Amino acid sequence: ATPLSITVSTGKAAAHGILIRSAEALETAHKLDAIIFDKTGTVTRGIPALTDVLPVDGVAEDRLLALVAAVEKASEHPLAAAIVTDAGDRGLGLAEVVDFASVTGQGVRGSVDGQLVLVGNRRLLEAAGVDTRPLELAHDTLADQGKTPMLVAIDGRAAGVIGVADTVKESSAAAIAALHVRGIEVIMMTGDNRATAAAIAAQVGIRRVVAEVLPEHKADAVRRLQAEGKIVGMVGDGINDAPALAQADVGSAIGTGTDVAIESSDITLISGDLSGVVTAVDLSRATMRNIR
Ligand code: ADP
Ligand code: MG
Repeated sequence: ATPLSITVSTGKAAAHGILIRSAEALETAHKLDAIIFDKTGTVTRGIPALTDVLPVDGVAEDRLLALVAAVEKASEHPLAAAIVTDAGDRGLGLAEVVDFASVTGQGVRGSVDGQLVLVGNRRLLEAAGVDTRPLELAHDTLADQGKTPMLVAIDGRAAGVIGVADTVKESSAAAIAALHVRGIEVIMMTGDNRATAAAIAAQVGIRRVVAEVLPEHKADAVRRLQAEGKIVGMVGDGINDAPALAQADVGSAIGTGTDVAIESSDITLISGDLSGVVTAVDLSRATMRNIR
């Protein structure tokens, strides 16, 4: 494309809240065969709210929540914010956490009142040798409702499940349908569990889901599609999406997402409205048509 047509299109995009960083991104977007969307914060609002506190083993509900919130207070994950906010609303005092550790894409751990608390997915608890069988029914029930179940262990024993629900963005379903109409395959990728991911995907019309992906494996999923000869786009918001955004032929970050994601991408969707992806594809098509 000519420098002038690039400048004009980039300006039009900016007027729609789409910041295009390179001429190359604009020139590549019309060729995209597939676009991978991160789930949390991209397809969904990323503002989860606590919905369920389900203790087992005789643990009191408020005690479970207070211990979990005390640990999550040290985490920067959106899931953590939902739990801490709810604990505050219930007037629960939060004890101090020591030896806090965060395992990206899996959860958190820390000691509270001398008790070792683990909060996270199945992988996190199993790696610590916790028998998660008492939590399985609650886990699966929440996941089938599209909620994210977080398993809790106290001193190595299953203690309960916390459910958090995030809602899909208003713009998601229409944008995904528009991409399908343009012949672009849409895939959702998430570190969240399979059942939750499938429930969210169904709400927005996404037919292909890659779930339970560790942060360090998100870029591999992009590479695998590229190895099939596809031109691949990626849309994400988190630190864990940054390598995949950089690997994609066109990476788009959500403007409200983390700085690392924005720096690793070619396009920034300022408001996070997914229709921006469709607009970018259309502008790219128009730009490239003009110069031929
Ligand atoms: P996504 O790919 O959807 O943005 P992440 O990779 O950030 O999700 O997290 C994957 C999973 O790890 C979450 O669904 C949750 O089960 C678990 N997890 C991550 N951070 C936390 C946390 N602070 N507390 C509890 N669980 C967590
Ligand atoms: Mg995310």
